[in-house]
Amino acid sequence: MSHSEPNCLDMARGQLLKAAEKLALPQEVCEILSQPMRVVRVSFPVEMDDGRIRVFIGYRSQHNNALGPFKGGIRFHPQVTMEEVIALSMWMTFKCAVVGLPYGGGKGGVVCDPRELSPGELERLSRGYIRAIAPFIGPHKDIPAPDVYTNPQIMAWMMDEFSRLKGYNAFGVITGKPLSLGGSLGRKEATARGCFITIREMAKALGLPLKGARVAIQGFGNAGSIVAKLLAGEGASVIAVVDSKGGAYNPEGLDPWKLAEYKASTGTVGGFPHSKAIDSQQLLTLDCDILIPAALENQITGVIASEVKARIIAEAANGPTTLEADRVLQQKGVKVIPDILANAGGVTVSYFEWVQNNTGHYWPEEEVNCRLEQVMVRAFRETYEMHLEQGVDMRMAAYMVALRRLYEAMRLRGWLGTEER
Ligand code: GLU
Repeated sequence: MSHSEPNCLDMARGQLLKAAEKLALPQEVCEILSQPMRVVRVSFPVEMDDGRIRVFIGYRSQHNNALGPFKGGIRFHPQVTMEEVIALSMWMTFKCAVVGLPYGGGKGGVVCDPRELSPGELERLSRGYIRAIAPFIGPHKDIPAPDVYTNPQIMAWMMDEFSRLKGYNAFGVITGKPLSLGGSLGRKEATARGCFITIREMAKALGLPLKGARVAIQGFGNAGSIVAKLLAGEGASVIAVVDSKGGAYNPEGLDPWKLAEYKASTGTVGGFPHSKAIDSQQLLTLDCDILIPAALENQITGVIASEVKARIIAEAANGPTTLEADRVLQQKGVKVIPDILANAGGVTVSYFEWVQNNTGHYWPEEEVNCRLEQVMVRAFRETYEMHLEQGVDMRMAAYMVALRRLYEAMRLRGWLGTEER
């Protein structure tokens, strides 16, 4: 991230302040929520395959637990910073609150490039990180999950390491695990499915048929690739996709199933047969109906926003749109389904996974999907109503729905002082 771009933490705080002002909440609410309750910074040694020891830096930010234990993913990325992790943990607090989960917000990160590590090194790194943060996490304390460049295998190692330390199988300490280790059916697809549901609801509200709608997607990882398939399944046309190494564009539509196979064998969507190369900036400003940023933060800047042609932006990634871009998009009348709503499907099914771990009773996939559908549709409607009633954009509306819940919980817990005084 360059210095001229707003940093994520300022963005997260800016969004909080705007929503708190609009709801006329006491100042203490903002003071509490603009800081994480705890941030852990760890360094830990990892033995590399050649026998050398490398020391890695990791973080875990526990933003707020008024509504329940801290919850949120762990990312492995070379550009992870403490500030970014704090901002992401703040977004988790609002995400869990907007969909009504009994969780607070947390996030973790390790500064590393997992693409350069062997499987053995990745396993030792994952275990080392969990040993370092073990005193601060637990099934009723703080429950990590996957995020950028982490996956079910990594969750399995982490759960195993934590369980060894505790001397019992603590399946509920982490979500996004493989199915054979207490994972939930439907978790893998959950972020994309939740995003798809919010797009479908928004398209319905705008009278835009999904059939034939032109879709552009930035990022073709777990969220981007599955949302592409779900939309194509409804007759939408995925016309452009970019990933970190390349891009593919075809105005007649790309086949997301073939594209996923192609990426699995070549490592990128770039060079896909019958497609033209396209870069991120071109994709974000492409003539399309639905734009899905499904990569990293700060992708849609003010300058890009002024060129956006889509009618709907669904933020599958966390924090892809800057505050400046938000203002521009609102003026242009582009409907932005904010990250804390659009990508909440992942943590929602993480919650279902944790419930299944805690009860020892496992649900069929239809039950998971049906409950996810209910949660997402309800959260979408509450946010959409707030947006209409208050005349604010969807992001502000989502923050307001979330903040009302957080305020109520903090007030009842007595965090805001005694009312009778
Ligand atoms: N990393 C995902 C997110 O940002 C999922 C978090 C979780 O399942 O706890 O929402």
